[in-house]
Amino acid sequence: MQSIPGDLLAIDRQGRAKTPSLDLELRPAADRICDFDEVLLPFSPEQAVFEAARCIHCPDPAPCVRACPAENDIPSAMWLIEQGRFLDAADLYRQTSSLPEICSRVCPHEALCQGSCVMGKHEEPVQTGMLERFVTDYQRYVGEIFISLPEPSGRRVAVVGAGPSGLACAEQLAQRGHSVTVFDAKPQPGGLLLYGIPNFKLEKDVVLSRMDDLYRMGVKFVGSTFIGRDKTIDDLMTEGFEAAYVAVGTWIDSPMNAEGEDLPGVWKGTEFLIRANVSPAFLPAELKEKPAIGRRVVVIGGGDTASDCLRTALRMGAEDVTCIYRRTENEMPGGTKDRKLAQEEGAHYQFLTQPLRFIAGLDGKLAAIECIRMELGEPDASGRRRPVEVEGSNFILEADTAILALGYWPDETIGQTTPELETHKYGLIVADKQTGQTTRPGVFAGGDAVTGPDLVVTAMAAGRRAAQAIHSYLRTKVN
Ligand SMILES: Cc1cc2nc3c(=O)[nH]c(=O)nc-3n(C[C@H](O)[C@H](O)[C@H](O)COP(=O)(O)OP(=O)(O)OC[C@H]3O[C@@H](n4cnc5c(N)ncnc54)[C@H](O)[C@@H]3O)c2cc1C
Repeated sequence: MQSIPGDLLAIDRQGRAKTPSLDLELRPAADRICDFDEVLLPFSPEQAVFEAARCIHCPDPAPCVRACPAENDIPSAMWLIEQGRFLDAADLYRQTSSLPEICSRVCPHEALCQGSCVMGKHEEPVQTGMLERFVTDYQRYVGEIFISLPEPSGRRVAVVGAGPSGLACAEQLAQRGHSVTVFDAKPQPGGLLLYGIPNFKLEKDVVLSRMDDLYRMGVKFVGSTFIGRDKTIDDLMTEGFEAAYVAVGTWIDSPMNAEGEDLPGVWKGTEFLIRANVSPAFLPAELKEKPAIGRRVVVIGGGDTASDCLRTALRMGAEDVTCIYRRTENEMPGGTKDRKLAQEEGAHYQFLTQPLRFIAGLDGKLAAIECIRMELGEPDASGRRRPVEVEGSNFILEADTAILALGYWPDETIGQTTPELETHKYGLIVADKQTGQTTRPGVFAGGDAVTGPDLVVTAMAAGRRAAQAIHSYLRTKVN
């Protein structure tokens, strides 16, 4: 594979640095709000070669590699793409990432690899995310994802939770010859990749194709099984699993604790997104019905979930879609890319605004939200300036639908039903950051269930690290 020139000094860095970036090609906003298809148009092979050739190949350690939680060897991938060696580049990404076709779509690149690209200081950064997407899609299109497995080890591992963390761990364990069964409470695997992130950011076929790869590796999936209720971690060990990786994410929507929060017309973000975006074929009976939304939709929150809810509501035909957030745009935790897209598609923002109560109309359904203006006070424990109410600034915002996108909490069931498994006060699992080892021997944990809500790429990277630790554990474990 390695034919990247050792003497990268031969590269005309100055010439490359002056090459302008290709414009990102997006479907026009007016078209894209009419469907749930992806909005970024893929590169052509010629565009990919051109864009990759802008990389100036910074000396090691390149800032883009340092900024990537998966530590993808981005400069080498750029070199391969520049030579037209798309399949080699895709294989290179697969050495460090279990989900490159997914991370290339959903990573906040502007805050990670692209955000650290030195080209960004004078010109646009190299569009590393789009290039990763191009080569991994190309590889799938030409059907070149080979799977080679070692001799079976005879060891069985249970993975609990089929989100990016669990799937990455399963992939890495299977590649080390272990027999892996993934259990999930939902009928289908994917976690938030399937039951959260909307199609217009991540086509579900991309997730399903990656699942097919895992099945080809021999990974087994058992759906609709809530560990801690239908069976426990102890039951799994009694069934013959020798280790478990717990990657159950954080699935409980944070409540607002405001009057009228349970009115018809007020939705929790996750349920709204699941009902609106996921094919009924993948949903249990109680979630199959699409949410009825009104003309005026208000989304409350400032993270990625809020952007996804705004953009989903626009696609469902809402005419007036507004995000209200209690701090300013600078403090918003969600990615700027998604926020810009939401604005382009017609979402409005009211910053420094806090809802106080939800008000019913004569029909008993949501009709309005009483809000109050805020100002920023002293920094709080998170370091962000605390929003403080401006006395007497109350006002009424008319709304037929409100969607609460306020963040997530972990479910405490696994912690409560697994002896010796220590959890933090709010249910996050205590685990070593590097290995995922928990306080219970043989039980490892990672992803959002350990860190709290984070990113697909960080959850995926934790799953890979834990697989290495589980492999070492199994090798030293006495039967
Ligand atoms: C709406 C939304 C949009 C997002 N957008 C982005 C984005 O654009 N980019 C990005 O990088 N990140 C995004 N994120 C964050 C990202 O999706 C998560 O950080 C990531 O999915 C965490 O992976 P995980 O494997 O730890 O958990 P999850 O993906 O949450 O998967 C956990 C799995 O465990 C299962 N489970 C839970 N409890 C049990 C149990 N007791 N027994 C069995 N199974 C159980 C769940 O059903 C689920 O399938 C978004 C999150 C949300 C909510």
